[in-house]
Amino acid sequence: MNKIKKKDIRSFSLKKLEIFFQSIGEEVFRAKQVYKWLWQKGVPSFEKMTNIPKSLRVSLNENFFINNILIYKQQKSKDGTIKNSVKLHDGLIVESVIIPSKKRITACVSSQVGCSLDCSFCATSLLKRMRNLNSDEIFDQVVSISKQSKIYLNRPLTNIVFMGMGEPLLNYKNVIEAIKKITSNDGLGLSPRRITLSTSGIPKMIKKLADDRVKFKLAVSLHSARQSIREKIMPFSKNFPIEDLIESLKYWNNITNKVLTLEYIVWEGINDKVEDINSLIDFCKEVPSKVNLIQYNSIGNLKFKRASKEKVIEYKNSLEEVKIPVSIRISRGKDIDAACGQLANK
Ligand code: SAH
Repeated sequence: MNKIKKKDIRSFSLKKLEIFFQSIGEEVFRAKQVYKWLWQKGVPSFEKMTNIPKSLRVSLNENFFINNILIYKQQKSKDGTIKNSVKLHDGLIVESVIIPSKKRITACVSSQVGCSLDCSFCATSLLKRMRNLNSDEIFDQVVSISKQSKIYLNRPLTNIVFMGMGEPLLNYKNVIEAIKKITSNDGLGLSPRRITLSTSGIPKMIKKLADDRVKFKLAVSLHSARQSIREKIMPFSKNFPIEDLIESLKYWNNITNKVLTLEYIVWEGINDKVEDINSLIDFCKEVPSKVNLIQYNSIGNLKFKRASKEKVIEYKNSLEEVKIPVSIRISRGKDIDAACGQLANK
């Protein structure tokens, strides 16, 4: 007897599942039932699909496998942040974080194992990129956090940020597919307005977001609006000059009509001069933005030192003077290496 080569059932769309059920002489509505088990309830085996007849469960098990992630370690910060170490089917590991606050519960998810970019202040860049996550591996991080949120915090997940490991716009197709599932009524039904994708700034892909009319929010890790400085701290940006970034963001803003968020760390001696502040203001005048001044979390690179509180306040005041919305972000989960830029599978 020929052994059937099992397929990953979660690579099947609902339509494709329906065709499969038809082909084996089953009722088409079973496809939707199975799809719900996979995408709404996130069950790890066919056994658990209790409204599916036993014989069909056996046949599904012969034809398919469910490619699940495994949360193999959790760490809890004293500020309530929880970090998940997530083992993938091939043994590689990524991290995702649950960040509770008074009003929200935010999931911070990863899009790649490691990262191909070379931001020298970010711990993930030290790992190099090993592979893209599949859309289901991205979706699973969210499902898992959504369950944990109810169990540990007794509140539902409210927001998602693509600010974990990796560059989401370099894994475009899978990230978009995962977001489709997260927002679809057959998935988690979360509003796209509650999702923010953060990119280090890949102009071509930012234009694609606009062309694809995506509904979620966009954040760009700018850190300097001066090309010469940005190139030093984010060397990949040599290939993506700031003028191209601005042009792509104008294009995105024209089509989506949305306000961009800029993530910006202020470092001593790197981007703390009046000239740096003025360049940021010029940038915001070209592309309507609000600025999040984020705290630098040390990753042991001696070149980078967090700027003083006074300097950060000077930045804030200068932006406010010209009516650019700005806030200072305090990092969460630092004691468990779960804060911005610290995810590195230690
Ligand atoms: N690659 C995407 C997604 C990662 S988001 C991006 O760059 O936007 C992670 C955010 O944390 C980015 O804004 C990044 O610039 C920031 N970050 C990286 N290292 C950091 C550090 N050591 N301290 C504080 N923020 C950091």
